[in-house]
Amino acid sequence: MSEARVPRVAVLGAGGFLGSHLVPALLQRFSCEIDAVDVNLSKLECHDARVQRIEARVEEPGLVEQVTSRCQTVISLTALCNPAQYSTIPLEVIDASFTHLLPLVTRCAERKVRLIHFSTAEVYGRTALDAQGHPTERMHEDESCLMLGPVSRERWTYACAKQLLERVIWAHGQHGALPFTIIRPFNTIGPRMDFLPGIDGDGTPRVLACFMNALLRGEPLPLVGGGAQRRAFMDVSDMNEAVCRVLERPKQADGQIFNLGNPDNDVSIAELGRLMAGAFAELWPAHAAAKFQAVSAEDFYGPGYDDTQERIPDVRKAQQLLGWKPQRRLADALPAIVRDYGERYGARIEAARKAPCRLASA
Ligand code: UDP
Repeated sequence: MSEARVPRVAVLGAGGFLGSHLVPALLQRFSCEIDAVDVNLSKLECHDARVQRIEARVEEPGLVEQVTSRCQTVISLTALCNPAQYSTIPLEVIDASFTHLLPLVTRCAERKVRLIHFSTAEVYGRTALDAQGHPTERMHEDESCLMLGPVSRERWTYACAKQLLERVIWAHGQHGALPFTIIRPFNTIGPRMDFLPGIDGDGTPRVLACFMNALLRGEPLPLVGGGAQRRAFMDVSDMNEAVCRVLERPKQADGQIFNLGNPDNDVSIAELGRLMAGAFAELWPAHAAAKFQAVSAEDFYGPGYDDTQERIPDVRKAQQLLGWKPQRRLADALPAIVRDYGERYGARIEAARKAPCRLASA
């Protein structure tokens, strides 16, 4: 357990993918009490006396008052962070990423409650550019331009809302006294990441869950646009470590924006599919071999989608100020994630397949 004294922390979005991994990691590291807030806490498989489970929406009256009056730090994770939603329910995305969080930011600034806010790597937009707009290999917190596509490309709704909230937080820090840290996560993955369509959610989840869904159902893995686009994937354990360090080092972390991602795990989406299919075959050799199918973005997501061809973080700042370096290689992380998905969902998918089709009543 760390020597650092961490008083009461509120984790907003504690029932989401990142939150449900972060809460146990904080408890293991610090002797702190936690307000774990989410509209649904079922993913938070942690029942520790130091955790107060609060089932509520962040926009519910009184919630912001409650957490900012008794917590010294708020970690805000709530968002609708699934690209399929940016062009299908953009107004809900803007509310969840911006409107509903404004009162929280204002109250944290007034009360000088430390705010550790999760923004997104999406703010960099389509491609990595330096301040003059020239292409660069990596995205840098304090130097890159933020290049979003046209408004008709609704994919960028989320990035725009998240960027505006970053600017509000920044302004409260610069012109007021808000102690803040902004985190931009890059494609963080782990068990319990997203729902599987038709089992515990509807619509299209992010790529890891899409591929798990296809593998478990014996369907081809869809490669949007052929799958040459690249992402740098980071294991959630590396994210937990970075957030613990942000908490431990307020002097170094306050007023900063940090990219948190693993540039060494930069692969194409097709390569991710092959790695996952390999891990799946090792675990369940009796399943049919995985197949892949190229699909168009328009067919897969509908109109308004747009994509980033390559998204690689520059993480030197986190390394310098937090002494943090992501550790887990993608090939080492995937088998445990694939196993967890298989164990959680295999039987449910099988049962759904065997269930008789419901006939429309005459
Ligand atoms: N993608 C894919 N097949 C899928 C789901 C997603 O090829 O079944 C692609 C998607 O078009 C994008 C990449 O995988 O280029 C990562 O998508 P994700 O939704 O995970 O999030 P993003 O990194 O774009 O925010």
